[in-house]
Amino acid sequence: MRIFEEMESEVRGYVRSFPVIFDVAQGSLFYDEHGNRFIDFFSGAGTLNYGHNNPIISEALIDYLQKERIVHALDKATVAKREFLRTLRDVILAPRNLKYKVQFTGPTGTNAVETALKLARMVKRRSNILAFTNGYHGLTMGSLAVTGNSFYRDESYGVRHNTDFMPYDGYHGPDIDTLTYLRRYLEDQSSGIDLPAAIIVETVQGEGGVNLASDEWLRGVERICLDFDILLIVDDIQMGNGRTGPFFSFERSGISPDLVTFSKSIGGGLPLALLFMRSELDQWHPGEHTGTFRGNNLAFVAAAAALNHYWENPGEFTATINHKGNIVATEVNRILESYPECGGKLRGVGMVWGVEFPNTDFASQVSHEAFKNGVVIETAGAQSHVLKFFPALTIDEELLREGLARIEQAIVSLLSEKKDRLAGAIE
Ligand SMILES: *Cc1c(COP(=O)(O)O)cnc(C)c1O
Repeated sequence: MRIFEEMESEVRGYVRSFPVIFDVAQGSLFYDEHGNRFIDFFSGAGTLNYGHNNPIISEALIDYLQKERIVHALDKATVAKREFLRTLRDVILAPRNLKYKVQFTGPTGTNAVETALKLARMVKRRSNILAFTNGYHGLTMGSLAVTGNSFYRDESYGVRHNTDFMPYDGYHGPDIDTLTYLRRYLEDQSSGIDLPAAIIVETVQGEGGVNLASDEWLRGVERICLDFDILLIVDDIQMGNGRTGPFFSFERSGISPDLVTFSKSIGGGLPLALLFMRSELDQWHPGEHTGTFRGNNLAFVAAAAALNHYWENPGEFTATINHKGNIVATEVNRILESYPECGGKLRGVGMVWGVEFPNTDFASQVSHEAFKNGVVIETAGAQSHVLKFFPALTIDEELLREGLARIEQAIVSLLSEKKDRLAGAIE
């Protein structure tokens, strides 16, 4: 570990939560350099929906490299890009009756968000953007400006202007429809909120703590966008690629966003980000928004392999995602019922589940204890108070159950430690 402390910036994060040196990985298992085995319930925050080194993806990549086919081409046309675009059209967009054009941005999610915000402002000739409480959209300046989480926001970063925050679904409790606030602020031209070019929203806030917007609420946001001539951006970077069941997370609500940001698992584990846009919005001049690593050909190859394999028959894949999600929900609920003293409450959909504990430190303690017990699981939410279950969509049932059992053991040992400490204090 010494080289990391010596050389790598203090900004390093996950290495502190999971302090081993990882080496080999396959599917939902990874191993440190000493061969210790870990079950992955984190999946690179949604980048590894198809698992580590998925053989379908690896074989396509190895074959591509061995034939010395082109890896870097800026945004020139390549066979790999053609195959990816065809797959995207035929396997993903056409069957869903979506007619988006696609823009390749720089390779990370925040690049897609920056592009969406810039395009929306350019098309609408308005500078304001509305975002929601606890949203997460990335950490470059534009994306950071629409990210709520106080951990990442600092007054001195400066570029937070031209954005306003509105309460997300459920922010004021279950009985208050937060959209009545939003609509009123827009109706009243003296509310202090400028008419925005766009509203950016996650259908499920992953980083924000597994907060689910209802279908009705999402349709309400769409209705407001239509009524006030505002563009709707769905940030599907984390919840897309089947995480909630269907390929796009907004499919369940039936809304049609004007723009969709997409990244994380689309490159099958390799960096790739894109922006889907309604074709009328594609008002760029050639080369007006560029970047050196737009569309990495290895990621195109990986993406096409994954889309063809898993999404040819979306009904089947979605059913397996929901089936595994049910296993998580059933098992976690059973654990929470067996140990009511931890007071955890479960929420989620598809293969994204979160447990919020009244003791805000407990989720981090479970994550820490689970790691000692061979499971990598992260927390979410502004206070890291939600334990986030995020296994690969392709995890096999046996491993899924083993991971859940190991997390249960972690909870049991934390609770018994606590009891011992209490007993000690009483004596
Ligand atoms: C991860 C994430 C981003 C940022 O993506 P990066 O690749 O980390 O820049 C943006 N939005 C959402 C919803 C995300 O989960």
